[in-house]
Amino acid sequence: MSNGASGAARVSACLGFDFDAISLWIGSMGSTSPSMLSRGEFGAVAVPRILDLLERYQARATFCVPGHSVYAYPDLVRRIRDAGHELGHHGWVHENPQKFDRDGERRNLERGFEAFDKVAGVRPRGYRSPAWDFSEHTIDLLLEFGFDYDSSCMGSDAYPYYLRQGDRASATEPYVFGEPVELVEIPVTWGLDDFPPFEFVWGMNSGLTSPSDIEEIWRGDFDYAYQHCPGSVYALTMHPQVIGRGHRMLMLERLLEHISGHDGVEFETIGAYVDRWRADNPLDRWKGEHPEYAASGTRGAG
Ligand SMILES: [Zn+2]
Repeated sequence: MSNGASGAARVSACLGFDFDAISLWIGSMGSTSPSMLSRGEFGAVAVPRILDLLERYQARATFCVPGHSVYAYPDLVRRIRDAGHELGHHGWVHENPQKFDRDGERRNLERGFEAFDKVAGVRPRGYRSPAWDFSEHTIDLLLEFGFDYDSSCMGSDAYPYYLRQGDRASATEPYVFGEPVELVEIPVTWGLDDFPPFEFVWGMNSGLTSPSDIEEIWRGDFDYAYQHCPGSVYALTMHPQVIGRGHRMLMLERLLEHISGHDGVEFETIGAYVDRWRADNPLDRWKGEHPEYAASGTRGAG
């Protein structure tokens, strides 16, 4: 039994670019300082060079964009779409869903969809939470809006899983595992994200790590997946305003060269991988094969 997706690819390399631009500095950092916001503007400078690099490797990638940034850079969003990449939902203004009530969170999701519809005529199938945070309502809302997948959680690494609805966490009572639902999770990890190691933020990130250090980590996870995890997904999370600097672009190019030198590896969008994985791992069968993700009621009380 494999946990992965059948088909040609031994490992699917899903390159993710969160094109947060200015919204990151407004929504997550609470700033309106022109200097601070200009760090996000650099993302728009970097997107074309990333698109050129992807074209050279004939790699299809997934760009997650907050609605606020979709409106700020409509031409770039259409250019990403026209190059065959996937566009993913990334909130309204890079807000943390935990800071909103259910209706506020729903409105942020609606505004993200509205921006993609008006600017690019697309409806994203996947969601990536800004800052990878969920509220207690997020999974309910993702189901309500009909998302196929999410990519914000960390309950696995090389293989996807189905998210649960109705988990209850308490420090005084045993954990309650809810019921797995039709929402595929493509797991992420801070170790495969460029923002913490590279982006300097006062009081938060020391940043400015040497790219060779990060290249070793990123290569290591790819090599392990290739050697041990057939049908798996290797999901990187990058930000144009971070990875787009010269020394990091050279590192990314070396990494793509390394990955593409392996037989049976495909660069594809998260959505394409999810379609294949879901067809190979229907929820009902998957639940039987993965008791570690099961609802409390089906675990047996020892
Ligand atoms: Zn983001």
